[in-house]
Amino acid sequence: MTQRLDDLRPREECGIFAVYGHEDASKLTYFGLYALQHRGQESAGIVASDGRNVVEHKSMGLVPDIFREEILQNLRGHMALGHVRYSTTGSSLLVNAQPFRVQHLGQTLAIAHNGNLVNARRIRDDLEEQGSIFLTTTDSEIVLHLIAKAVKHGLEHAMLETMKQVKGAYSMVIMTQDTLIAMRDPHGFRPLCLGRLGSGYVITSETCALDLVEAEYVREVKPGEILIINQNGIRSVQSELSERKAQCIFELIYFSRPDSVVFGQNVYLFRKKQGELLSQEFPIDVDLVMPFPDSGNYAAIGYAQASGVPLEMGVIRNHYVGRTFIQPSQSMRDFGVKVKLNYVRDLLKDKRVLIIEDSIIRGTTARTRIKTLRKIGAREVHLFVSCPPHRFPCHYGIDFSTRGELIAASKTVEEIRDFIGLDSLGYLSMENLVKATHIPGNDLCFACFDGNYPVPIDQFFHKFCMERDPSP
Ligand code: SF4
Repeated sequence: MTQRLDDLRPREECGIFAVYGHEDASKLTYFGLYALQHRGQESAGIVASDGRNVVEHKSMGLVPDIFREEILQNLRGHMALGHVRYSTTGSSLLVNAQPFRVQHLGQTLAIAHNGNLVNARRIRDDLEEQGSIFLTTTDSEIVLHLIAKAVKHGLEHAMLETMKQVKGAYSMVIMTQDTLIAMRDPHGFRPLCLGRLGSGYVITSETCALDLVEAEYVREVKPGEILIINQNGIRSVQSELSERKAQCIFELIYFSRPDSVVFGQNVYLFRKKQGELLSQEFPIDVDLVMPFPDSGNYAAIGYAQASGVPLEMGVIRNHYVGRTFIQPSQSMRDFGVKVKLNYVRDLLKDKRVLIIEDSIIRGTTARTRIKTLRKIGAREVHLFVSCPPHRFPCHYGIDFSTRGELIAASKTVEEIRDFIGLDSLGYLSMENLVKATHIPGNDLCFACFDGNYPVPIDQFFHKFCMERDPSP
């Protein structure tokens, strides 16, 4: 029996990488997905096309386990679309793995989607009433149905019509035999950017994937924009749906790689700034500051540099541990935590220790870790978090979708401090969180902190809403 090692951390959503106009499109996509593996580890897939023939390979698991040289050799063509998935709508099953591909009127349509459509269930019910048949339980499949219904008036028209109907978070790429189409929702919840590779193009979730394949960053796909790439070149269509931007602040705090530029913001420098502002908000007399790798690394650097408190790596991570492990016996109960992280006892004994964390979701992981620090002799243990308390669930593609999962939804900061067993606990204020970005606060989503949801949530929406009985 196996168990996930990171059950108690919030999960990433999905990552997209697509190439147009390169003879090694699928190989580049493989490397791109490698760079985006942190965004989804349940399944991965690539669909490739030479302009006429479309081939695909997808499976459950990690990118290096799914694709081998001979598989990539068979994914021929100058276009490829890849996806890594963590399921935020629909179960973790091969049938739900993406890219998802269908045939319609002799044309191939493949989709790779990052985000959650919050009115997906309602649209699906309507489509099913009209006779549509669904093969998956994901929200992404309804997009292909909507495109298929309108495509007789052209792809651009179909995309604009689809955009009018779906609500929520979607950064997605659609591929036909000969065309690549990128589309980002009018709020711009999830990142999506455009790169240039020789005479070809790359569309991807994060710029770290562009760096790996040595593509040049051009710009973000704008909220509400549709980019159409084919033999005629690249064309931008801006939808007239005007919404305020609501880019997910948690992409910057936690999900995106620190070597990426997301929403025009360097993630590494943002996290360092969070630490610097934490040090101004919560100065404290301690012997050392440290992260639990890798969650608070960059904010801890920022705190240390701004405060002068020495930065130490008091906990060492085993980089060779996979995501699952054999379930230990009852007598080895905390094995799961220990196998991944180990403590430098001689460094921490008798010390006043400050931990910097990027978030506390359920509080149980932090509680176990603080207990261990006390056991090995830390004299004081303080914890500062580089964002405000998570009090509300996310419905736009991050996997903490019920309030019951969030410790701050039902406990005060003092109660959380007591539960985790800390000498002190501090959370970065909302004001300083905004200050750490270069982005106007009005262009960001903070709903998991303040409960102000930019897109109203359909009453039938939840992670498995496509797998339940039809709504009344
Ligand atoms: S609710 Fe939180 S995690 Fe979800 S999109 Fe908004 S900021 Fe991001």
